[in-house]
Amino acid sequence: MDGLDESYGAFLMERRGEILDRISGAAARAGRSAADVLPIAVSKTVTAREVLLARRAGWRAFGENRPQELSRKLAALEGEPGCEDLRFDMIGNLQKNKINQVIGRVTLIHSISSAHLAEAVSTRCQARGIVADVLLEANVSGEASKSGFSPEGLLAAAEDVAALPGIRVLGLMTMAPAGDAEAARRTFSGLRDLAEELRGRTGLPLETLSCGMSDDFEIAVEEGSTLVRLGRCVFDQGYALR
Ligand SMILES: *Cc1c(COP(=O)(O)O)cnc(C)c1O
Repeated sequence: MDGLDESYGAFLMERRGEILDRISGAAARAGRSAADVLPIAVSKTVTAREVLLARRAGWRAFGENRPQELSRKLAALEGEPGCEDLRFDMIGNLQKNKINQVIGRVTLIHSISSAHLAEAVSTRCQARGIVADVLLEANVSGEASKSGFSPEGLLAAAEDVAALPGIRVLGLMTMAPAGDAEAARRTFSGLRDLAEELRGRTGLPLETLSCGMSDDFEIAVEEGSTLVRLGRCVFDQGYALR
């Protein structure tokens, strides 16, 4: 390690402590256990070197949003001491022609945004004899810029998607509108309610709720998130936790 790595490593460790404290505080306010919230470090903007430093700072779970960058990171980290237990999740838009780059290599795909994509992932997993753990992405806020099932579309498709043999649906994922805390809260509580409705309809436990990013993860934890996806607040020294 050179001096730069050392000071960045110290930042990562200190910041991680602050993030975990905030998750604990938010969980306590909601009468939840912080142990039920898994923070994922979104490494899409950093190099494998920084992932390695983050691993040393205590992070175990990482998120990538592009299959090609995922492949690059996995190749760079292969055989690195201490990286055997790393977990990578796919959190971004997944094109059908990239599915094979992702299945079998990630722990969880957060971004199943349509019934077509669910079918395509299932078919490719079946061909490989595997079952992929996935979340269904819901566009709870209704913003046109966001991908995912509409809540009505999800309710309509849920039973068919849940029955696909190549995927296991563990829960839901959403993204909140940026820069509006009240809208974020409504989005996260909406996701929780949607999951409840889907449980009734599918009989699936749907225990995983992936929501909350750097700007709104405490609100997400207060509203029931079990998986927060944190990029800038983990890796960016210029990002001030609010
Ligand atoms: C980049 C990204 C994040 C992390 O966002 P930050 O605001 O940097 O914490 C979370 N989820 C998805 C899907 C992303 O693409």
